Amino acid sequence: MAIESPISGTTRDRLYGEVVWQGNTFDLIDLAGVETGTKKEIDQSAQESVDLSIVEADLIIFLVDWTDKNNEFDKLVARKLRKYTDKVLLVVNKVDNPARMRDIEEFKRLGSFDLTTVSAISGKSTGDLLEKIVEKLGLDKAEKEEETQKADIDLAIIGRPNVGKSTLLNTIIGEKRAIVSSEAGTTRDIIDVRFFHKGKSIIIKDTAGIRRPGKVSKDTIESYSVLRAHKALRDCDVAVLVIDGVEGLVALDMNILGQAKEWGKGIILAVNKIDTVDGDVREYMAQKIWQFQEQLNFVPWMPIVFISAKEDENVKSLLGQVVAVAENRRTTISQESLDIILKEAINSNFQLENIKSLVQKKTNPPQFEVVYPAKRKPHFTQIRFLENRIRDAFPMTGTPIFIDEKSYGKTGKGRKK
Ligand code: GDP
Repeated sequence: MAIESPISGTTRDRLYGEVVWQGNTFDLIDLAGVETGTKKEIDQSAQESVDLSIVEADLIIFLVDWTDKNNEFDKLVARKLRKYTDKVLLVVNKVDNPARMRDIEEFKRLGSFDLTTVSAISGKSTGDLLEKIVEKLGLDKAEKEEETQKADIDLAIIGRPNVGKSTLLNTIIGEKRAIVSSEAGTTRDIIDVRFFHKGKSIIIKDTAGIRRPGKVSKDTIESYSVLRAHKALRDCDVAVLVIDGVEGLVALDMNILGQAKEWGKGIILAVNKIDTVDGDVREYMAQKIWQFQEQLNFVPWMPIVFISAKEDENVKSLLGQVVAVAENRRTTISQESLDIILKEAINSNFQLENIKSLVQKKTNPPQFEVVYPAKRKPHFTQIRFLENRIRDAFPMTGTPIFIDEKSYGKTGKGRKK
């Protein structure tokens, strides 16, 4: 079940999924749609897909068909990949029986790539392929390296192309005497930026991705920015979603915010390019906040910071928010306070009476649990009411919180989360 449905907001069908194999996790991107269209379109599309694979991927599975040797498409792709031989795994598919192994040598003409065979339809050799992938990605090693490099805050800068992500990054680097390091031993350039703010070490990982992309079509860039954003989001503690104040919030932004909330990530909205505002900036900000209010009603706790990445305006205060949000994710509320919050919530809304206790189960991000007698499950509006009461006392700005529900007593259905 590795491949999920296409990500909404992408203009092309590109499948993306997480694979877990023997405790190692990697993302798999299927560059679908390459073979549609006219000859010219195919060429361009193949070109772009390959270009992006080279840039984005740690490893490229160059999948060819045993029953279709020597085709022009493969040769075109092979030519492109030759310079990157190290991160290519040439996989010959449809090798369904031993007899087919005999002609394998022919594929070596495509280049001196690592070569392996598979039969996708029968599943034969897929385990070997996965093993090879894990080995070529050096996944075990990577995990160990990460351990030693842990920073206080993993920060991600996310947003659609041209909103000013790399400008923001450069401003941060310029201001912070940051350490920009390339990791050796990886199959591509992973450039991490580390710096301190308010005594916390902050790392922005794989910033090479923020600085790209090169010359590829708008559609292709757009779909990759979704993938990249999801990947960066999954690995971070706090994400700064950058938008262009003039453009406002687009589908990609909403998609990211929804995902950030679901994954329990800290999130800050940075409205960039305020230097271009004509007239009263305060009025502009007030208007924007009013305009965003409805769209953002599912993340009312998210801070909105207006910045100019280019003119270095408010970038410091943005970083201050990053530190604050990371701290908020670690909020622990004492049982005594939770008891008071629950009691007062019940006093002001008797429907909450069936909630018998409120406890905090986890932090980073904060996770709570309410207990109710079976058959008296609280309505989601009651849970939301309770969340608001918790946030009245402990705002936990910038972080999602979770409230799980647990019943006790007989339901006939057992315990429910
Ligand atoms: P990215 O694709 O999100 O990394 O965006 P870039 O950082 O490459 O910026 C795209 C364009 O917007 C460039 O021409 C930048 O100079 C411009 N830009 C970025 N930030 C600002 C800003 O704060 N103010 C103005 N006026 N332009 C900006």
